[in-house]
Amino acid sequence: MIETGQGDHITTCRAEILGNRQVARNLFRLRLALPSDWGPAEPGQFVNVTPEPAWEENVPGDAGGSLLRRPFSLAGVGHEGNRTVIEILYAVVGKVTRQMQRLPPRAHLDVLGPAGTVFPIDPGAHSLLVGGGRGIAPLLYLAAEQRRRKLPFTLVYGVRTAEEWAPLGPLARGALLTAEDGSGGLRGTVIDALEQAPAESGAAVMACGPHGMLHAVAKWAHERGHTCWVSVEEVFGCGVALCGGCAIPARGGDGEYDRYLWACRDGPVVRSERIDWEAWRQLGAATPPAGP
Ligand SMILES: Cc1cc2nc3c(=O)[nH]c(=O)nc-3n(C[C@H](O)[C@H](O)[C@H](O)COP(=O)(O)OP(=O)(O)OC[C@H]3O[C@@H](n4cnc5c(N)ncnc54)[C@H](O)[C@@H]3O)c2cc1C
Repeated sequence: MIETGQGDHITTCRAEILGNRQVARNLFRLRLALPSDWGPAEPGQFVNVTPEPAWEENVPGDAGGSLLRRPFSLAGVGHEGNRTVIEILYAVVGKVTRQMQRLPPRAHLDVLGPAGTVFPIDPGAHSLLVGGGRGIAPLLYLAAEQRRRKLPFTLVYGVRTAEEWAPLGPLARGALLTAEDGSGGLRGTVIDALEQAPAESGAAVMACGPHGMLHAVAKWAHERGHTCWVSVEEVFGCGVALCGGCAIPARGGDGEYDRYLWACRDGPVVRSERIDWEAWRQLGAATPPAGP
């Protein structure tokens, strides 16, 4: 098993928007061009972005920039000509994502990254990649990487209603899709889909989504003796391990210092056993707003 590591190739750069369009209900795909030597990045990592200019935080309404960058998981990374192209899937929930939604091709975003821990790839395991709602983003990158390396995996993708499904392209083959309201795929949650996953799968489970879903997936994996890694998209304050605003109650540490994981410093990808799920829920784990 390859252990997760922290990216050490973080830079800031000005990225050019190649495309920015709606792909599902309140879900947008942003394609950004960066310098060819950007990265390297790995699945699980994120970028911290801010629209330009970034220095007028206190302008009322949606005008002005944002001094605090907003984190987004990498949903794909590739190369076109002499540029690195990254993809982000984002939901519109507040000021910066509303601004992002209005950015046309050739506009610019300020990008810091790639940052954060990565999903480990175990060549010996048929892994289960589980995404809930907008949490599918990092799993798309991981699935594409597993596919490129010809490693076995099953993608499980759950939404509340079928209109929320992001297009999966070639990754749709063999994917288990669920909609809670029964409007497409299997009726139910990702746990119902996991019960139908191929028998040989599951030794490694990788998941991203809202707190309740992550907790349920971690419990499902634990009961079966599977290793489970989760990407925790907790609200960031500074995003650079100074403010402690993204603290998550942790298990397994012995000192005061180990009682919390900081999502921006220790994550976003962490072993599920490290999280004290009930304490995190009581602390008000981030639940993504439904958006407009
Ligand atoms: C590591 C990481 C990766 C992420 N990846 C993605 C991604 O791939 N796609 C995506 O759409 N979003 C992702 N997010 C969430 C994204 O960062 C927030 O939606 C974004 O910061 C909102 O910015 P805003 O200015 O539009 O909203 P704000 O005005 O900052 O917030 C609007 C409302 O949303 C709440 N909120 C903000 N961030 C979060 C959050 N993380 N969880 C729950 N509630 C929140 C706020 O408390 C507030 O109520 C990720 C977060 C993290 C930490």
